[in-house]
Amino acid sequence: MDKEIILCKLGEVALKGLNRRAFEDVLIKNIRRRLRDAGQFSVTARQSTVYVEPQDGDADMDLAEERCAKVFGVVAYTRAGAAEKSLPAIQEKAAAYLEEVLEDSSTFKVECKRSDKKFPYKSPEVSAEVGAYLLEKFPHLRVDVHRPDLVVRVEVREAEAFVHADPKPGAGGIPVGTGGKAAVLISGGLDSPVAAWMMAKRGVELTAIHFASPPYTSELAHRKVVRLLEKVSEYAGRIKMVTVNFTHLQEQIRDCCPEDLGTVILRRFMLRAAQQVARDEGCQALITGESLGQVASQTLQAIACTDAAADMPVFRPLIGADKSEIVRLAYQIGTYDISIEPHEDCCTIFTPKHPRTRPILHFVEEGEKAIDGEGLLAEALQSPGTIHIRPMGLGGLPDDGA
Ligand code: ATP
Ligand code: MG
Repeated sequence: MDKEIILCKLGEVALKGLNRRAFEDVLIKNIRRRLRDAGQFSVTARQSTVYVEPQDGDADMDLAEERCAKVFGVVAYTRAGAAEKSLPAIQEKAAAYLEEVLEDSSTFKVECKRSDKKFPYKSPEVSAEVGAYLLEKFPHLRVDVHRPDLVVRVEVREAEAFVHADPKPGAGGIPVGTGGKAAVLISGGLDSPVAAWMMAKRGVELTAIHFASPPYTSELAHRKVVRLLEKVSEYAGRIKMVTVNFTHLQEQIRDCCPEDLGTVILRRFMLRAAQQVARDEGCQALITGESLGQVASQTLQAIACTDAAADMPVFRPLIGADKSEIVRLAYQIGTYDISIEPHEDCCTIFTPKHPRTRPILHFVEEGEKAIDGEGLLAEALQSPGTIHIRPMGLGGLPDDGA
């Protein structure tokens, strides 16, 4: 029997009491969706573990493992070898399936979990028998029950037994789709993709809103944002991306509003536009990548002035993060290399020479009156561009509802 499966350990999902079933269902659906192009798999949950079992020899286990590693709600995962439920079969499977790690380890122990209570050996007996067999097969090994290099795990389940080594850490968090829906204001920078990822990690389904100001911002800059979202969607699942044209609004702010308040006024219009799109998309909140004190528009006073333009809650998961912490996460998510490509953003064109770092709301509101804000917003929101971002580099394809 050469069957191999992937075991995914559920994290907080398991703690959600009565909601547990609903959380598990969403998680299973998310894993199934993520594995669609990796082959035929059965995905089922039993006892805080999701079993990902290939249905034929064509299934791509490496790809499936990579995908499971990025599903929120999974705290740990491992590939496991399946064995018939007899002691000799389990012993042989442990030796063959874990040969490489057994060779590389000096000390080990065996731990057995038996959910099939009809299996004729109790867990400690299985552990002892498998341990003795491995000691004979790999004479360099010693048993260490306190701090072993390797823990050989045997699970005796209803239909078969599984052997595996220590699980790897999963993406953590809770399943996307269990935590409502929010719209992330996404730029081509380092911060907003990380902010999006953090909220998705807490179960939030994402819609993305991007402001573009052609010809000041290029098609390449837009493409960069799409590529960033594709990376985020490897974790967050499908993301609808709405692009709003801000050219005319930005030109008007540049030409008519007080220069030193230009940035904060622009940001207020961003929030207003985002809020309208978010409502249309059924989102309950906005997300930005702001971090306190990072730039002039991210002082406490500037953020307060910006926030005053929105009624919806605005989440800023990076507010207390240092740049180095954000960079570390961007590496982990895979967005870092794309983010540092030099492309313009609508926030970086027409930047005032001396932006006011402590704007006062009253003066901002007065300054804004110089333009027809409502008319310009309506114009910007008239024909937003919409694409559907999906993991696996399939971004931009029309949504097939899957
Ligand atoms: P980022 O790295 O995310 O670009 P930043 O530190 O460069 O952030 P700003 O450019 O001031 O900061 O932008 C602050 C936040 O405003 C961003 O994190 C993002 O949420 C939003 N934002 C900025 N530019 C855009 C844009 N073109 N479209 C949509 N949202 C934007
Ligand atoms: Mg930016």
